Amino acid sequence: MIAEILNIGTELLLGHVVDTNSAYIGRKLAGIGVNLYHKATVGDNKPRARAALREALSRADLVIITGGLGPTEDDITREIVSEVFGIPQIHSDEAMNHASSLLKGRGHQSLSSLERLAQVPEGATLIPNPRGTACGFIVEKMGKQVICLPGVPGEMEAMMELTVIPYLARLEGGGEIITSRTLRICGPGEAEIEDRIRHLLHGKSNPTIAPLVSLGEVMLRITAKASSLEEADVMIHRIETELRECLGQDIYGTEDDEIQHSVVRLLRERNLTCAVAESVTGGLISHKLTEVPGCSKVLGLQVTSYSNDAKVKVLGVPKEDVRRHGAVSREVAIRMAKGILCLSGADISISTTGVAGPTKDDHMHSIGLVFIGLAWKYGVTCGRFEFFGTRSEIKERAAKRSLDLLRRHLLSHH
Ligand code: ATP
Ligand code: MG
Repeated sequence: MIAEILNIGTELLLGHVVDTNSAYIGRKLAGIGVNLYHKATVGDNKPRARAALREALSRADLVIITGGLGPTEDDITREIVSEVFGIPQIHSDEAMNHASSLLKGRGHQSLSSLERLAQVPEGATLIPNPRGTACGFIVEKMGKQVICLPGVPGEMEAMMELTVIPYLARLEGGGEIITSRTLRICGPGEAEIEDRIRHLLHGKSNPTIAPLVSLGEVMLRITAKASSLEEADVMIHRIETELRECLGQDIYGTEDDEIQHSVVRLLRERNLTCAVAESVTGGLISHKLTEVPGCSKVLGLQVTSYSNDAKVKVLGVPKEDVRRHGAVSREVAIRMAKGILCLSGADISISTTGVAGPTKDDHMHSIGLVFIGLAWKYGVTCGRFEFFGTRSEIKERAAKRSLDLLRRHLLSHH
């Protein structure tokens, strides 16, 4: 099945709102093996939206529209779908009851504009909206389908999850089951990973392996199609075993795991505590660790020491080291890690110091240069990294990599 996305909303063209809906839908479609070939955005303008929908339908089997399903005049999605398909709009009691009971539940009066929410193209299948007033719908004609969803991301996502994805997975599978599993990797980049698993990627159509890159990490999504879930699981398991043989400890987790989950899990298993001293990451490592429920058992002292003064006064980094090597240096990273280890009495510590940009530091170090220190009872080590991206991307990459270094250390030393 070939799909396209059509976003409707002038605010998206003006740049007031960034189109995150397409990214979400794209990921979900990839997960069930639907090919997404185009996406387009048009404003709240009927002629242009109609033209965009016609064009999308000329190429694709399925068009997913988000936005323009609200109750106001500029919400045009119902009309353009009816017009393009040549189907009249009719009143749906079900859509009406949903909207009015939701409004009542929230203590609102019924609106006169509510009738617009009850209008759907004749023959459409409604998509329930658990989070908002506007139901979505699926219209089908001559082998082409249009699925309309609200623009509000939380509403659209809930409806995709509950109704649209299971529906499309059934269609796409032709009675077969499609299921997938994600392996998550921090450290090596996409190109290196592809090199190492090239023999597994080559010529595979079922299961497929799709690399996905996000800030500071790579995900490998394995998708299998089979006549039963058990059979698909066996196929996925076989490929996963081969991938694990190639990538070993580079795989830190699966599905929705994040690097901090695997760090906290390891610390708990080994009954160890960890302390953190952050400069360039500005508390991001601590933030990530404290996102994990139950982290208090494994967290020692966490300090954000962005200024040189704080590094000297709180962590006991010698002034002379800062003056001679600069705050962004191996020496200072190591002193920070040792300082926080000593202060906290934790079993292991990590530290970061670096240049997040957008300008170079006083010592003219390049933007993205980061030292990550790691100290424990029997030793200390420090890694030097050059990250790229904006200021916040560099911070994010540095924080993830710090947690990954900690994870690898726990695996090999404890
Ligand atoms: P409503 O019932 O709330 O009117 P709607 O279906 O009419 O929903 P829009 O009015 O087009 O949807 O958009 C509602 C809000 O959803 C927008 O203000 C915007 O914040 C957000 N939104 C719309 N489209 C997108 C998109 N593609 N990506 C991210 N956010 C979006
Ligand atoms: Mg609207």
